[in-house]
Amino acid sequence: MSKHIETKAIRTQIERTQFLEHSNPLYLTSSYVFEDAEDMRSSFADEKKRNIYSRYSNPNTSEFIEKVCIMEGAESGFAFASGMSAVFSTFAALLDSGDHIVSCQSIFGSSQTLFNNILPKWNITTQYFKSNEIEDLENLIQSNTKIIYAESPTNPAVDILDLARIGQIAKKHNLIFIVDNCFATPYLQQPLKFGADLVIHSATKLMDGQGRVLGGITVGHAELIQRIYLFSRNTGPALSPFNAWILSKSLETLPVRVEKHCENALKIASFLESHNQVNFVKYPFLTSHPQYKLARQQMKMGGNVVAFEVKGGIQAGIKFLNSIKILSLSANLGDTRTIVTHPASTTHAKIAEQDRLQTGITNGLIRISVGLEHTDDIIKDLNQALHMI
Ligand SMILES: *Cc1c(COP(=O)(O)O)cnc(C)c1O
Repeated sequence: MSKHIETKAIRTQIERTQFLEHSNPLYLTSSYVFEDAEDMRSSFADEKKRNIYSRYSNPNTSEFIEKVCIMEGAESGFAFASGMSAVFSTFAALLDSGDHIVSCQSIFGSSQTLFNNILPKWNITTQYFKSNEIEDLENLIQSNTKIIYAESPTNPAVDILDLARIGQIAKKHNLIFIVDNCFATPYLQQPLKFGADLVIHSATKLMDGQGRVLGGITVGHAELIQRIYLFSRNTGPALSPFNAWILSKSLETLPVRVEKHCENALKIASFLESHNQVNFVKYPFLTSHPQYKLARQQMKMGGNVVAFEVKGGIQAGIKFLNSIKILSLSANLGDTRTIVTHPASTTHAKIAEQDRLQTGITNGLIRISVGLEHTDDIIKDLNQALHMI
């Protein structure tokens, strides 16, 4: 097979049926049949690799997993009903009571809730390092630490973490290094190359790319995935065949979509940087980004999320959102449709101001998930809303 990700995303396909369909069909079946008692015995004894029940595996799910493994350079994977079920099942499968996690502070909100409020029920605790203070990370490692967890770029402040450096620390202390690669996608960044052991995705975002279905996936070392698989086949967080079918089709266009998302995002970021109502812009591929050099080393392009600060704080941010005409106010990201959010007054409003500021969420910070509309129209809408504040 080709070495190019574009070709592999399109040409990785499970076996054709006797109908010789060109595009892969949807396998809506909860179970599979056996030839005889011996076939059934050996299948359940794991002596052969075959489909038994769709909580364990399904042809559509297998195709989706295989594509993501190829794109990430991973040995194997398991697909989940959502990004959060991937995060939860991965940690639940790998950790025991009394274990400890060291995580970057700027992670997805529900992942933080999992670490702070849910895993402590099983006596699993978490300590956080700041995204710009990786030196701290090593001081947080204890004898019971099992996992280091990180996201890069971070949400919503778009900071970049040095994955290779964290990978070295994980190796030195014999820890499992897990990266949520949702913002970058395997097209822009492959964390396994930098020493990660597992990569998690919310497939709901850029992988689907059109705001339709929920999905999640964990890929990486086969031995770790086997433990996650055994946990999941018994607890039931599996991705539905329909969503897997949608997501596998979506991956065929991931490279072209992400490329265009990134081109548009860079244009929007440059426009905002020259606007007099804007204090600062953060985008990994703008030379003004504090970790610009690292971003260039780690990522192929800058991603589709741009953060910027409007002049005038919370009230200006609210006014800006209320003045937007075409773009969407929505919790999703990585959609064809551009989405704007004002974290300080919405998603992060419950967090104390000083804690918010520590993770880079200033009062006037706006996050844009840049879509695929024509950039002239996106800029026009942003410009008129900026003039209203
Ligand atoms: C959305 C998101 C998740 C959770 O994924 P769901 O599919 O919504 O469950 C996890 N991590 C990141 C970075 C996300 O953006």
